[in-house]
Amino acid sequence: MSIDHLGRTIDYLRISVTDRCNLRCLYCMPEEGVPWKEHDSLLSLEEIERFVAVAAQDGISRIRLTGGEPLVRPGIAGLISAITKIPGIERVALTTNGILLPKMAQELKEAGLSRVNISLDTLDPEQYTYITRRGKLEDALAGIEAALEYGFAPVKINCVVVRSLHQDVLAYAKLSIDRPLHIRFIEYMPVGTSSGGEGHGWTADDTVPSDELIGIINDLAAKDGLGTLEPVAYNEAPGGWGPARYYRFPGAQGTVGFISPLSNHFCGECNRLRLTADGKLRPCLFSDEEFDVKTALRTGTDDDVRDILRHTLGVKPDEHHDRVGTERTMSQIGG
Ligand code: SAM
Ligand code: SF4
Repeated sequence: MSIDHLGRTIDYLRISVTDRCNLRCLYCMPEEGVPWKEHDSLLSLEEIERFVAVAAQDGISRIRLTGGEPLVRPGIAGLISAITKIPGIERVALTTNGILLPKMAQELKEAGLSRVNISLDTLDPEQYTYITRRGKLEDALAGIEAALEYGFAPVKINCVVVRSLHQDVLAYAKLSIDRPLHIRFIEYMPVGTSSGGEGHGWTADDTVPSDELIGIINDLAAKDGLGTLEPVAYNEAPGGWGPARYYRFPGAQGTVGFISPLSNHFCGECNRLRLTADGKLRPCLFSDEEFDVKTALRTGTDDDVRDILRHTLGVKPDEHHDRVGTERTMSQIGG
């Protein structure tokens, strides 16, 4: 088991498998995209697999593949198939914008993927195209249907709330009522400060703290006759607790979660490391400290790779304190 220098159990690795994306969400990437890394500077699928095998020997048991958009990386199903077979890996999950899921859900399921998180920030077709700068809502919704149809469980839907966008948060939260969908509202974070301005136009006013959002949803729900959100017990949270706090409308099949990286740090329970698409290991989303695994994977032994993993655990910060920005974009780090 991997225990960091502060006694936290670190068993979860998020891997950005590509910095590329088929969308350009305005809170994540500049409209023209970020200059893509040369193909050779990205970890190959075999290098990712080897890193996971080393990490699994040190107690990493849960993997999430993300990006960029992981489904645009050629060979992603093969990678999933390979890493699900690594001894010690208990489950492999994916975070996606869902656009390619209708086409790929079956092969992903067959490859051994167990769960998916789909990012969708609005149910309004025009607003969806505005936020993603090129996507169609119907494609993302078809992705959610495909996830349910192929039996991924739980299916979580992530929404970044941006105050000035005036998203209809109640309509969104209501998705959790009739079907086993787990909605998660994420506080808007300033990421990518060195490449496109302050987190692509982020201002503190645009972040809606989770407690305020719970109040807003409860007020709207009361007017709609829905009752108020009730806290979900720890052992009933969808697929483990993680950083979200979960609630449920009375009688709902799914849940409504709130992820509060800015207003309610969950660093004390942080169980994760991140591997960037270009092979850097990051101990914390909000620390720009990174350790070069790629060189060790290309020129060193498994022991060299393990040394970097252990060193990274040794410097994982106690919390991100007042630091909330990053120099690299979320698509590069792996959101
Ligand atoms: N392309 C995939 C997707 O959109 O789900 C995976 C990568 S994306 C970077 C992962 C998550 O990061 C998404 O849920 C996205 O909404 C979130 N994200 C990106 N930029 C963010 C920001 N500035 N603040 C909060 N969440 C952000
Ligand atoms: Fe692409 Fe996901 Fe970033 Fe949107 S949030 S631009 S879908 S990587």
